[in-house]
Amino acid sequence: MIHGRIRLIEDLCTSCMICARECPTWCIRLTSHQERSAPSPGARERTRNVLDEFEIDWGACMYCGVCIEQCPTGALEWGGEHVPVAESLAGLVHGRAELRGEDG
Ligand code: SF4
Ligand code: SF4
Repeated sequence: MIHGRIRLIEDLCTSCMICARECPTWCIRLTSHQERSAPSPGARERTRNVLDEFEIDWGACMYCGVCIEQCPTGALEWGGEHVPVAESLAGLVHGRAELRGEDG
């Protein structure tokens, strides 16, 4: 297993913030908002977190895997590739599209 990129499986992410809190270099940043909805008509409404932004700064990541180990839902996994070269430090900050694996 290559400890390269980390992939985010958004459907499994509950925006619990555990990965961001446990990351030793604080290189994960995420924001979310809450939505209320009823699972069926007439049922009691429930509140759930909805992910807005999720970023990893590869310039600060040390590939320790703590975020993957600590995620309670399995929403993070090693992506199997190395992080591509960037022309600037800002280019090493990857958001949801890249973390989902949609940047090619
Ligand atoms: S691998 Fe380690 S340093 Fe990199 S984002 Fe995860 S917890 Fe942070
Ligand atoms: S620990 Fe897992 S479920 Fe929680 S915010 Fe991070 S990726 Fe999402």
